[in-house]
Amino acid sequence: MIWPAFALLLLSAPCDPAGGQFYSQLNREYFGNKLEAACIQYQDHYMEAGYYASTEKADNGGYLIVLDSRFRELPSYGKLAIEHEACHIDTWDDTALVDKQQHGPPWKHCMRRLALEGAMDDLW
Ligand SMILES: [Zn+2]
Repeated sequence: MIWPAFALLLLSAPCDPAGGQFYSQLNREYFGNKLEAACIQYQDHYMEAGYYASTEKADNGGYLIVLDSRFRELPSYGKLAIEHEACHIDTWDDTALVDKQQHGPPWKHCMRRLALEGAMDDLW
């Protein structure tokens, strides 16, 4: 999925093809393709800014996932971070208004399901 206008609007950076490919595969294999599209981007020094990954909902209904650039050298951790963020997207409407941390029961249920179904087997 390539969203140049979306990326320009949010961070003036292109979506990462490899990250997008992993997200699409994850969506197809573990979410029945029901997740909204997401643009994956890497940002330098994101950890120093207090994040290692984050997800924002875009005006067009899709999402922007930003990962610290260091995940490029640690692809397994980067994929785990994308799975973490995919569960935020999966539970966005359930948690956005009631769970500020957004790591409550719906998100935990999603992550547990991914683990039990083998989505993390090659990553940890
Ligand atoms: Zn989180």
